[in-house]
Amino acid sequence: MAELEGFEYGKSDFVLLDEVTMEQFMDNLKLRFEKGRIYTFIGEVVVSVNPYKQMDIYGKEEIDAYRGRELYENPPHLFAVADAAYKAMKRRAKDTCIVISGESGAGKTEASKYIMQYIAAITNPSQREEVESVKNVLLKSNCVLEAFGNAKTNRNDNSSRFGKYMDINFNFNGDPTGGHINNYLLEKSRVVQQQGGERNFHSFYQLLRGGTPDMLSRLHLKNEPEAYVYTREGASVVTGSNDGSCHKAVLSALKVIGFTQEEITSIYKVISTILLLGNLEFEYDGETVQLPAADSVRHIAELTSTDPESVSKALLFRTVATGGGEVIEKGHSQQEACFGRDAFSKALYERLFGWIVSRINGVIEVKDYNPALHGKNTVIGVLDIYGFEIFENNSFEQFCINYCNEKLQQLFIELILRQEQEEYHREGITWQHIDYFNNQIIVDLVEQNHKGIISILDEACLTVGNVTDTICLESMNNKLGQHPHFTSRKLCPTDKTMEFHRDFRIRHYAGDVTYSVEGFLDKNKDPLFQDFKRLMYNSSDPVLKDMWPDGQLSITEVTKRPLTAATLFKNSIIALVGKLACKEPYYVRCIKPNEMKSPVLFDEARCQHQVAYLGLLENVRVRRAGFAYRQPYARFLQRYKMTCEYTWPNHLMATDREAVEAIVTQHGFEEDVAYGHTKLFVRTPRSLYTLEQERAALI
Ligand code: ADP
Ligand code: MG
Repeated sequence: MAELEGFEYGKSDFVLLDEVTMEQFMDNLKLRFEKGRIYTFIGEVVVSVNPYKQMDIYGKEEIDAYRGRELYENPPHLFAVADAAYKAMKRRAKDTCIVISGESGAGKTEASKYIMQYIAAITNPSQREEVESVKNVLLKSNCVLEAFGNAKTNRNDNSSRFGKYMDINFNFNGDPTGGHINNYLLEKSRVVQQQGGERNFHSFYQLLRGGTPDMLSRLHLKNEPEAYVYTREGASVVTGSNDGSCHKAVLSALKVIGFTQEEITSIYKVISTILLLGNLEFEYDGETVQLPAADSVRHIAELTSTDPESVSKALLFRTVATGGGEVIEKGHSQQEACFGRDAFSKALYERLFGWIVSRINGVIEVKDYNPALHGKNTVIGVLDIYGFEIFENNSFEQFCINYCNEKLQQLFIELILRQEQEEYHREGITWQHIDYFNNQIIVDLVEQNHKGIISILDEACLTVGNVTDTICLESMNNKLGQHPHFTSRKLCPTDKTMEFHRDFRIRHYAGDVTYSVEGFLDKNKDPLFQDFKRLMYNSSDPVLKDMWPDGQLSITEVTKRPLTAATLFKNSIIALVGKLACKEPYYVRCIKPNEMKSPVLFDEARCQHQVAYLGLLENVRVRRAGFAYRQPYARFLQRYKMTCEYTWPNHLMATDREAVEAIVTQHGFEEDVAYGHTKLFVRTPRSLYTLEQERAALI
């Protein structure tokens, strides 16, 4: 608990609230935001409110103030959490992780960058070259990942369109030796379509606006985002950063990380291929579908190191295996051709992104680490992942994201409670059972084999024939209609189309979310004709070929259904939770104060909503249900000794613990405390509040 400031800035730890009510919580949050205090603790959790202005709190002075100190010695700050995670890792050889959550634009990615900068700043005091180089790559990887994985949205000018988990490895000295990045659910639909006011991924505009004339001409591109269907919509959208100079920074970061010139060229060839694909049009002459733009096809073939005939064939036909084992070619309808083209563009981008991540991983992977020689290799993981999403229209993506948040909440409950239990055990204090809402029931609703929503979706995707979203919803309704957290609805027509809307609602731990089933099955199946995969696998560009290993299968070999998008996502989240669960967790909960990106506006309704679905009140309650506050005897004495005649200026008792007992008795809250081996535990903050007031009156 930060105690350096008085309560005029509000309470620096929410456990100190007089009562845990939404009203008090919000008053405190608002007061602190208005006083420029963007961070507040809940025990060891940091709640952060996006300041939407540059804060002068991340410099060398702050780094020095937080380095090696205890959490409650300084005001709440990201650095306090980063240091706690680092100290646990270094002193106790514990793997730790920092989980950053919050909605889009709440400040997660900025927080993750400050945390990494802090860790970089406090490590490697002897400036060893190989460690500096690892740090450099870790920091530079952000620039590359943001160029390819971020986009301007209506919520955030630099919105991460993927989830990121990064492990940083440390040697016994506590210096970084490497790392590993996992990425989750890149929003690839953005490649082919964006909402009004939004843009495609930054990388497209950066190349088009920042590429040299020579580079662009080799890539068969014009320096006009307006000229391409995929970037046209976002071409006039202002972002506040300069695409051209960003492009140069990305090129230089790619080089620093260790990408070769050939690899960099291949990356931009893929970007160019996607732009050219987007401009392809198909014509139907009454008999077959044709591709009139022969030049573009030739350019695509050149950029992908394939030949023009194969390119146009893959765009116009698909190979199918008949029941009798015969392989035939079937021409696309115009609609199928467009669908195939867009699916191909999306897949190209997704694989490019995945390839860039794994290439970076190859560079930062810890090599030749011998624990016998070098001591235990410890890890700090940093998770920057999408928070709960409740929009007007919620679809498959929100379903996946919210499922992910249920999993993280489940972990949160389990780990926080476990940590509390462990501490009580260490200190020899009897554990009191805490009642809390366990969201396992919702996790099961989504992920359970055979019975869960994902299984039902997958089943519908596997069924041959015309299974529609509606039929799928009916199946959900049959199987889950009785579930306390599930309802499905058929809404009466409200608009001119006189169509019934179908949706289902999940009662998430954070609130009710209604999902529209439209498009669910398609997004889950995520089909891509095998012809495209084979085309890319046959490329003579080794980088491209490397991205498409599954292209070597022939059509008769691919009868086995690939895993669906939901199942792939589920598996990756289960693996992520497994990784986090064996680490000591630290949490940063980010809140977005308003929709206008304003540094002065605290939109109470919006904030309250976020506090609710981040489960922050629950968090305070869990923290207070046990002992809200704990402190080593010596520290407690140091702070409060002036409030008791027997301890001021110095006590004459045998132990600090006895002196603390004297203070507690004098103030009459014996019933409210427990004495651990090394720490005093205080159940309700009120006792502490009394002490604080008395102390304030004395100084
Ligand atoms: P998220 O990753 O949660 O979607 P970001 O971290 O990208 O959100 O933050 C969105 C924007 O808010 C940033 O581009 C920046 O302008 C502003 N911002 C966030 N955190 C801070 C901070 N600590 N100081 C100053 N500005 C911030
Ligand atoms: Mg982000």
